[in-house]
Amino acid sequence: MIQIEVPLGERSYPVLVGPAALGELSSLVPDDVRRVAFVTQENIGISTEIHLPTSTHYLPNGEEAKQLSVIESLCSAFAQGGLTRSDLIVGIGGGVVTDVAGFAAAVYHRGIRVLHVPTTLLGQIDAAIGGKTGVNLSEGKNLVGAFWQPCGVICDTELLASLPEREMRSGMGELAKYHFLGGGQLDSLPLDERVAACVRIKAEVVASDEREGGGRALLNYGHTLAHALEIEGSFDLRHGEAVAIGIEYAAMLAHEMGRISDASLEEHRRVLHAYGLPRGLPAGSNPDRIVKLFGRDKKAKNGFTFVLDGPEGLEVVEGIPENLLRKILERM
Ligand code: NAD
Repeated sequence: MIQIEVPLGERSYPVLVGPAALGELSSLVPDDVRRVAFVTQENIGISTEIHLPTSTHYLPNGEEAKQLSVIESLCSAFAQGGLTRSDLIVGIGGGVVTDVAGFAAAVYHRGIRVLHVPTTLLGQIDAAIGGKTGVNLSEGKNLVGAFWQPCGVICDTELLASLPEREMRSGMGELAKYHFLGGGQLDSLPLDERVAACVRIKAEVVASDEREGGGRALLNYGHTLAHALEIEGSFDLRHGEAVAIGIEYAAMLAHEMGRISDASLEEHRRVLHAYGLPRGLPAGSNPDRIVKLFGRDKKAKNGFTFVLDGPEGLEVVEGIPENLLRKILERM
């Protein structure tokens, strides 16, 4: 078992990574907890024994679970079950479940403790770590939420065995970005060490910038084009696949700007290929619309803004000329 701490002073918490880590759940339940509310999805089918009274609450599948009305129903069910301020919510699922369980925990009784058991690769290396929680509005994704750190996270890598192949590959898209955030040759490591290496990087970034004032933005490597493709599209792309295409684009852009060498561009391509990820724009992409969407990106305060690789590693680069963005889109 690998244990990593997310160092946030008195809100620090452990992340346990390894096969069968779920067996350690009881050891992370704080002593004064009297009741546990599990939040999960029916198709996940993962449960665990615990020596306390429990209730289980099922969320719908997919982004439709990330709605304020679902938070309301969940909190009503907690209240009917007598969940109090000193009890615990345990989210067992992918990023959708941990985002919803985490946000419900942040607002129920003005905040109760939550423990995450991420069951997707994306959840284990990203969504469950760092305390970002939230739901969508019809106006956009993740527009309502809170920073609410869990009291512990369990990344049981055996739970990934039942994950559909496409979901696993989507997680690999997020994994690919950690290669360029100081992870090095992650693809040569066994799965549990790979997950642990990503958790370590994410924990470090979160500790240095909990509320995304600066460094945490680097975690969005590859995400500017990914978000544009997700908004633009009727494309059949999972999030991690869109991120992979975004990483290829960011690498080509950095190369064109003279920020990275031929070898570094090749290394980006090697990593994406090693994980079986797509690199090209989906057929039917519209460069005009994509460039327009780049301008609406949350990071775009000073002209077109991207996280790009360079001599000092990843950094946020502002004021990128529009014609360059178009040129690379056309070349992809
Ligand atoms: P997801 O939670 O929708 O899970 C994908 C599918 O896999 C679902 O159908 C789920 O029921 C199923 N599943 C989950 N675990 C399984 C298992 N072990 N076996 C079989 N099936 C399983 O998708 P995701 O990719 O994990 O998460 C995406 C969400 O995460 C998005 O809403 C995104 O906004 C959010 N996210 C949040 C953060 C954050 O920091 N809070 C970071 C990244 C992404």
